[in-house]
Amino acid sequence: MSELIQISKKPSWFKVQFPDGQNYREVRELVKQNNIHTICQEGKCPNIGDCWNRRTASFMLLGDTCTRACRYCNVKTGNQGQAVDPEEPRKVAESIKVMGIKYAVITSVDRDDLEDGGASQYIKTIEEIRKIDPTIRIELLTPDYKDSLKSVVDARPDVFGHNIETVRRVHKKVRAKGDYDYSLELLRKAKEFDPKMITKSGMMVGLGETNEEILSTLKDLREQSIDIVTIGQYLRPTERHEKVHRYVTPDEFKSFEQEGKKLGFKNVFSGPLVRSSFHADELVNEDDFR
Ligand code: SF4
Repeated sequence: MSELIQISKKPSWFKVQFPDGQNYREVRELVKQNNIHTICQEGKCPNIGDCWNRRTASFMLLGDTCTRACRYCNVKTGNQGQAVDPEEPRKVAESIKVMGIKYAVITSVDRDDLEDGGASQYIKTIEEIRKIDPTIRIELLTPDYKDSLKSVVDARPDVFGHNIETVRRVHKKVRAKGDYDYSLELLRKAKEFDPKMITKSGMMVGLGETNEEILSTLKDLREQSIDIVTIGQYLRPTERHEKVHRYVTPDEFKSFEQEGKKLGFKNVFSGPLVRSSFHADELVNEDDFR
């Protein structure tokens, strides 16, 4: 593994793998050639060197333009998303095959301009991946679909993820078009539709919340029978975005993990550089798949 480098102007515990190396370059080339999008690049994820060198990535469906404008997110925004590419599910599936990925994470921009919120593109992508190799595990990280949730659950992803993103009070401020309670309801319904499907959610800290509010959000998630939760430090993508209100220490992250485990989550991944798709395959116990 290549050496770790300090992220500039951040506390000493922000060390990442430098984005280079043969695997990294091959994945970058593949993404470019196929004209597909990854949240790794669009979200300016600090873990890109680590993940791409392990030949894992988080694929982003439905173009590069999101119809929301959350205060923390680096993805391009607009009222109208890009035209839906009917070839995208196949291209993503083929990239997964070429990269040799055995555990795929699929996400997308929010598409409030589409009747089904983009659900059918998720379903087609699951079908294309399964055509190529039915043993590939598929984890979804979805937007808050309006009425199409059941059809996505019926396509039988291995893990259904939807991020709560932040605590209730801060949600209103940084996620104007989102709704904390609606997100909880979506997660609850997904589990009700398929009780054996693993469900997952994630949140960022450092957006102005207190530690008590973080614990309260963990309780809210556990009440929806969520299995896995991720907690990571918010990092400001540009000066235009919400500021970092504080850097949560590694010890505090450790305490969230301990509290989460007490609440009964199967797994809690909590640390400064944790993102919902980071080392996603390692968070699920093989025995927990249906
Ligand atoms: S943590 Fe997720 S978004 Fe970041 S580089 Fe890894 S796979 Fe991509």
